[in-house]
Amino acid sequence: MEKFDAIIIGAGAAGMFCAAMAGQAGSRVLLIDNGKKPGRKILMSGGGRCNFTNLYTEPAAYLSQNPHFCKSALARYTQWDFIGMVDKHGIAWHEKTLGQLFCDDSAQQIVDMLVAECEKGKVTTRLRSEVLGIERDEQGFTLQLNGDSVQTSRLVIASGGLSMPGLGATPFGYKVAEQFGLKVLPTRAGLVPFTLHKPLLEQLQVLSGVSVPSVISAENGVSFRESLLFTHRGLSGPAVLQLSSYWEPGEYVSVNLLPDTDLEAFLNEQRNDHPNQSLKNTLAMQLPKRLVECLQQLEQIPDVTLKQLNVRQQEELIEKLQNWRVQPNGTEGYRTAEVTLGGVDTNELSSRTMEAKKVPGLYFIGEVMDVTGWLGGYNFQWAWSSAWACAEALRCE
Ligand code: FAD
Repeated sequence: MEKFDAIIIGAGAAGMFCAAMAGQAGSRVLLIDNGKKPGRKILMSGGGRCNFTNLYTEPAAYLSQNPHFCKSALARYTQWDFIGMVDKHGIAWHEKTLGQLFCDDSAQQIVDMLVAECEKGKVTTRLRSEVLGIERDEQGFTLQLNGDSVQTSRLVIASGGLSMPGLGATPFGYKVAEQFGLKVLPTRAGLVPFTLHKPLLEQLQVLSGVSVPSVISAENGVSFRESLLFTHRGLSGPAVLQLSSYWEPGEYVSVNLLPDTDLEAFLNEQRNDHPNQSLKNTLAMQLPKRLVECLQQLEQIPDVTLKQLNVRQQEELIEKLQNWRVQPNGTEGYRTAEVTLGGVDTNELSSRTMEAKKVPGLYFIGEVMDVTGWLGGYNFQWAWSSAWACAEALRCE
């Protein structure tokens, strides 16, 4: 039976990076994946350009039942460290918005970089490989693969979450955690569009494709200022994806469609200057025309001139546009979610090494554990940072 110093299951962002770092530190590493290509999510990410990190990475941008868990790894392998590696490989990048860094050319460059780093570390990679069973004894872990068995004293689970099953996502990591008696927190889709109840969805169908800068808030007070996109299924866009990670089924969200406008002052000023101007045309100065027309057809915006708009109507209008309360029907689920919230309970793991406290030699890195970042490169940074912390631990032993 072939023996390795470390076996890593999952050739995604975290698994490839960990394999490369551990291999370069001298470990004999086997990297296993069920897919025919490594880094499939990386290739799909950031619209094909991979938003590989965020300049403003900080622990506050991560959701976890233990918000302190991510601090150590993020501080030890930072966004600047990863940018340094990207620069070393001559990959050109740019900041798109809000500190989000993307490749100028293609996400393939990040995968190529990781493959090159794995080659440098002499990592053995087995693709299209299923792990049929894991047994543990005093020698370590024996993995039954399709065809043969392999052995290691250090097993790293980097199999990711449940989002996008079409890209190879499986509950494998959660099952391994449960097999070894580790707690797995309930999972749900994050960074995912909202679906709407039928009557409202039908009313808003015509707005599909309209995008509005907005501030959207959850019932717990968390809010995001970014674009909201109307879709044929409901609501999407960065603001909605961000908020979805904080939303619980049944809750309302509040949308401010004019976050940068003192609407009362604007309407009063316009009324003074152009009393006979229609309310519709006045609002179209601040909002997309299609949105204003749709809201007027739905009788949410009165068909009046500014001088006809009475105080009560104006107050109601301001409330509707700046505190629009919507109750999502649900989310589009794992099919389109970018991440999975929940997962292996971080209380079971060392925040320094990612090793299971109860099972020496078993490690979890990346999205499989209960650490989920905001939209904008934070999830890849967690993959790099947690993988690096684990690789350091593999080196020390
Ligand atoms: P993954 O990258 O998901 O890798 C897990 C690997 O394990 C996969 O290769 C999978 O095939 C393999 N695997 C699973 N089960 C098994 C099994 N049973 N046996 C063997 N192998 C298995 N984050 C950002 O920061 N920036 C972005 O721009 C961004 N864009 C995204 C776009 C999309 C469409 C999606 C879905 C996600 C995006 N994310 C982005 C999130 C990011 O991709 C993940 O957080 C990140 O890939 C997690 O890394 P990971 O290594 O933990 O898991």
